[in-house]
Amino acid sequence: MKKLITQKVIIASIVLGAVVNISWGIFGHEHINRAAVFALPASMQGFFYNHIDYITQESTVPDVRKYTINDKAESPRHYIDLENYAPLDSIPQTLELLKAKYPEKYINQNGILYWYLQDMMVKLTKAFKERKKTEILFLAADLGHYIGDAHMPLHTSANYDGQMTNQKGIHALWESRIPELFGKNYNLQVGEAVYIENIQQETWNIIMHSHKLVDTLLSVDKDLKSKFSKEKIYKLDNEGKPIKNKYGNLLFADSYTEELHKALNGMVENQMKLSIAATASFWYTAWVNAGRPDLTSLDPAELTSRNKKNLLEELELIKTGKLFGIESEKEF
Ligand SMILES: [Zn+2]
Repeated sequence: MKKLITQKVIIASIVLGAVVNISWGIFGHEHINRAAVFALPASMQGFFYNHIDYITQESTVPDVRKYTINDKAESPRHYIDLENYAPLDSIPQTLELLKAKYPEKYINQNGILYWYLQDMMVKLTKAFKERKKTEILFLAADLGHYIGDAHMPLHTSANYDGQMTNQKGIHALWESRIPELFGKNYNLQVGEAVYIENIQQETWNIIMHSHKLVDTLLSVDKDLKSKFSKEKIYKLDNEGKPIKNKYGNLLFADSYTEELHKALNGMVENQMKLSIAATASFWYTAWVNAGRPDLTSLDPAELTSRNKKNLLEELELIKTGKLFGIESEKEF
């Protein structure tokens, strides 16, 4: 089993490694989905734990659809360029109203994350109601991905890669490189999932909170860059020239990445923890709204009892903020 997981993750890494921007990176999305399982109440946790490797690995599949399968409908689901939907107090509240207000091309350019999250909740609730095991797992894992994206500040801005402020490369640096280098020291324990009375409002709050961090994020990077010489910001080859990846993006020096991480003062870790808590709470809310269906009968009893010991061990470990079973940590 372990070998199989490793192989799958390596394949996913190869596929995902061939893209420019992977929201949250493999590290972030896998940790968010996996940690969310341990924030669930016992009534849901056994079932989700039986499928935790799927939930973990599936967390990056929406990005595979976006980049490698080149599914045109996929891309706008991952972001919302809030500036282009201003004034925000009159932003359409449903996809139907959005489509009535803006042309399709405009919507595809500026993203539908806010509306898509709500749509996913409706679908997940329905899957719970109908007790469709495969759909529950697939939709829950997907939903965790988009909730993670909603916590990445630059997924809420038209200046998504600092391209408007001469800060290109900041997107992947924040969401992929920083977690890859420093994420193993994050404490990923969050409290138990809570019921969300108003999903629409909560989704909006998440997106607005992320959006408020955009200016801080960009100004911290700008200030820090002004204190570093160009040679210290980027990775250099033997001749002292900045190294670019195959897409022409400059690679950041580890020392610059470390200083930025420090200067951001816990922002990346905090957003990751908020993603975990929100993912668990959205799953829990969908389940409650579906009438709290019994999930234990969806799996053979032997499977659940066989996994019990491991679940208890992992629950102990998460108390220290750590997780087992994330193969992608070893990939970097
Ligand atoms: Zn994404």
